[in-house]
Amino acid sequence: MEITAHELWTQVLEAARPGLPEQSFRTWLAGTAAIGLSDQVLEIETPSQFHVEWIEDKYGAVLTQILEHLSGRPMTLRFHAGQDDASPIPAVEVEPERAPAPPRSTPARPPPPSPSSMGLNDRYTFQRYVVGDNNELASAACHAVASNPGRTYNPLFLYGGVGLGKTHLMHAIGNEILERVPETRIAYLPCERFVNDLVTSIQEGTTAEFRRRYREIDLLLVDDVHFLEGKERTQEEFFHTFNALHDARKQIILTSDRPPKEIPGLEARLISRFEWGLVVDVKVPDFETRMAILRKKAADDDLVLDEDVIEYIARHCTDSVRELEGAVIKLLAYSSLTNQEISISMAESALRGVLGGRADRHRPISPDRIADEVAEEWGVTPEALASKRRSRDIMVPRQVAMYLIKEILDLPLVRIGQQFGGRDHSTVIHSIRKVEERMDQEDSFRSRVTRVRTRLDREV
Ligand code: ADP
Ligand code: MG
Repeated sequence: MEITAHELWTQVLEAARPGLPEQSFRTWLAGTAAIGLSDQVLEIETPSQFHVEWIEDKYGAVLTQILEHLSGRPMTLRFHAGQDDASPIPAVEVEPERAPAPPRSTPARPPPPSPSSMGLNDRYTFQRYVVGDNNELASAACHAVASNPGRTYNPLFLYGGVGLGKTHLMHAIGNEILERVPETRIAYLPCERFVNDLVTSIQEGTTAEFRRRYREIDLLLVDDVHFLEGKERTQEEFFHTFNALHDARKQIILTSDRPPKEIPGLEARLISRFEWGLVVDVKVPDFETRMAILRKKAADDDLVLDEDVIEYIARHCTDSVRELEGAVIKLLAYSSLTNQEISISMAESALRGVLGGRADRHRPISPDRIADEVAEEWGVTPEALASKRRSRDIMVPRQVAMYLIKEILDLPLVRIGQQFGGRDHSTVIHSIRKVEERMDQEDSFRSRVTRVRTRLDREV
């Protein structure tokens, strides 16, 4: 007998459920229903347009994969908003702000916690934050905002890659302000939470309450606002919340994985709001900063890590602070499982999986990594490459590193020069030419360069 749409969808959900956080499953998928099935398409109804956007964005790929697996053929999932999603969000300006929430037919579940009671992580403080070249400006801006909220940069918009300390900085501002003025109403929330709250409030007809809660806040911290991408109705609501708080001179701090302009599908008026204050980036920490962060972690958490182990980790975990922390945790686990002291050789074997397997395969090639690989091939230290030293044993690998960075990453010459002892762009051009000439003339040299390159390529 043919399987029905309902049966098929139930199987898909059952297969997907164990892999998703229960809360997300309930919020986003539990209220869906299959409404049609053809050869290639399974049609699903969801409670709202938000659900459609959210599910497609977050779970679309995995659900489709499961569906195809179960049905054994290529298929498409198509999501629709249900019939009662007719309620457009009324413009905030015309709605009485304090209107009581409309009565609910079912006894309400406990209301979501008030944002002002949302906890800050008290470990994320300025004291625990290591400042380096990569985050100096961001950290200075955060200090400025913490000492003068609502008056200096509003909003403060921090952006940068994953695991570089944006969330930490954001909490640090909150913690600092809270310490000085304990009655400050602070809301920290991942952007996803804002979306969830809004969806719930629309479903339950409590949008007025939603707005009131968010507008009573003194300090609003919204993490990862790139989640607003393409979610028009959420953006609309966010826009009004933003304006209300900003007009009242309440401080807003936002983070994202990229600058406002580069968030696809972000409305122009939000981009312009986000750029009103200060937009500042957090970069990948350099070797020195990675060392400093590891030393600080060890000191803060009472860990005994030898300098050579710290250096080993710093040299190999180059992408983010999160990766550094992961390596330390892994080492601690390894040490307690095997009952051995942490040593450099343990670090090598414990981290081999992390560094040789998962990490490297997904690790984008960074200039630091290229320099590291070249240094290793030529048996010199990356520090020597980055120094001003001009002996031949250093100059050759330094030129190779410049050449490979240009070849693989196509970074600006000036930027490459900076990495290697502040050399100017004509030196970089000269270096690259040298390498090209020598590769043409000398097979052994060429295969050495190719070897490094293959190693880098293989690990991507
Ligand atoms: P992001 O929000 O940019 O993805 P997080 O703020 O979550 O990154 O940082 C990841 C981890 O790294 C956190 O545990 C944080 O405490 C730590 N961390 C990041 N940057 C620093 C730093 N400069 N000094 C100390 N710890 C840091
Ligand atoms: Mg974060």
